[in-house]
Amino acid sequence: MSAIVQTAGLLKRYNGTLAVAGVDLVVEQGEIYGLVGPNGAGKTTMLRMLATLLAPTSGDAEIAGHSVRRNPQAVRRVLGYMPDSFGVYDDMKVWEYLDFFGRCYGLDAAQRRRMIGDLLELVDLADKRDSYVQSLSRGMQQRLCLAHALVHDPAVLLLDEPASGLDPRARVELRELLRELRSLGKTILISSHILPELEELCTAVAIIDRGRVLDSGTINEIGRRLRVGEVLRVRVLGDDSALEAARAWFAGRNDVASAEIIMGVELEIGFRGDEAGAAAMLADAVRAGIAIASYAPTTTDLQELFLQVTGRADEAVAG
Ligand code: ADP
Repeated sequence: MSAIVQTAGLLKRYNGTLAVAGVDLVVEQGEIYGLVGPNGAGKTTMLRMLATLLAPTSGDAEIAGHSVRRNPQAVRRVLGYMPDSFGVYDDMKVWEYLDFFGRCYGLDAAQRRRMIGDLLELVDLADKRDSYVQSLSRGMQQRLCLAHALVHDPAVLLLDEPASGLDPRARVELRELLRELRSLGKTILISSHILPELEELCTAVAIIDRGRVLDSGTINEIGRRLRVGEVLRVRVLGDDSALEAARAWFAGRNDVASAEIIMGVELEIGFRGDEAGAAAMLADAVRAGIAIASYAPTTTDLQELFLQVTGRADEAVAG
């Protein structure tokens, strides 16, 4: 395997906001690579920089050996980008839509005819060839948008939240389509704020939070590593306000990803450290005057662990 997408210290600052905080990412050829993280994590910004639509503040990225900074034209030839919002194309038929973009890429009439036939077949819209774009269901529009990203037969596809707004069946269809594209040799980068959506599909993922990659690798590898961090159940003596004060104390620690009151009686704490760290946190809590009745790790599945890791970021974004 060889890297087809590689970033080095990729960083984007919007005025005061550090949206992407110096990311080093390596995507091997033929992968379906997931960028997972809560809203505001920096996924769109990262994909837009890779797509050469947004200049990095610093750092660089290479796609198929071409630098997004030095050679954006070459990058555009090898990648297809599907944004998270789909524009409205009034009074345009499905085939006209693809024909338009084929012209943009300089394909001649025969090439366009072949391309339109092949792509509509691939995305299962051959029978919608003469339908108006706005008459298609959301899932069909999404597939048409994917066909648009494939007009120039790019080696790399960047898909920003392609499954959002799709019903379960359309999601399954999208997943099958992406697998088929992979089998045709494409490398796919796909973002989502929902890990289970990517779990079955992706060969590797990067978990992103506040512009940083918290972890990357296969889902199994990450699962093993995340499990090094603990989910702790803590019972605190006292009334509701004592429980809330304890929650706030835990939530304020750097090594705590999330602290929530569950069922009104216990705290569930997503802890980023190891066992020794958990022991040190217990000692700190006792010193801080929190009356702890029990303190124990729990086992959770990967999805829960992901929520633990990213839960705090969601609150930060919402607040
Ligand atoms: P995601 O795709 O993971 O939801 P984004 O890349 O859209 O994340 O956003 C990352 C951060 O950058 C957020 O804090 C967001 O508010 C901020 N941001 C995104 N676009 C802009 C912009 N054009 N101007 C200022 N801040 C922005």
